[in-house]
Amino acid sequence: MLVNMGRTFIGRLEKGADILKSLTEICKKENIRSGAFSLIGAVTSANVGYYDQLAKKYCDPISFNEALEITACTGNVSIKDNGIFVHAHISLSNKIGKCFGGHLMPGTYVFAAEYCITEFMGEELVREFDDETGLGLWKMM
Ligand code: ZN
Repeated sequence: MLVNMGRTFIGRLEKGADILKSLTEICKKENIRSGAFSLIGAVTSANVGYYDQLAKKYCDPISFNEALEITACTGNVSIKDNGIFVHAHISLSNKIGKCFGGHLMPGTYVFAAEYCITEFMGEELVREFDDETGLGLWKMM
């Protein structure tokens, strides 16, 4: 599937903001329906998910109640259930450089965060339920 790059948005999330909610709000406000993004910075606490491939469901969120660096946070934007859906993964490091990470969940709060979101133009990316994985995956033609 070939896509063309559309608009690119850069910015900073406010201290105390929920990363996933904030990215979703930006995409909805700017009507970014397909795209990709990256973000770096630091969090005051984080919630990440782990998908159990055999049980085909997310385990209980893994919570980190400490100040951590965002070594990488990357994800994409597509359409799920007729709405704009942000999917992100995050890697976090502690003060000895040890990394943790997973599927970004609500409840991950910004200490500082800078983002870059690039919009994709053309055919929309739409998620639909995939029986084999139990996930809402991109429908590819
Ligand atoms: Zn994920």
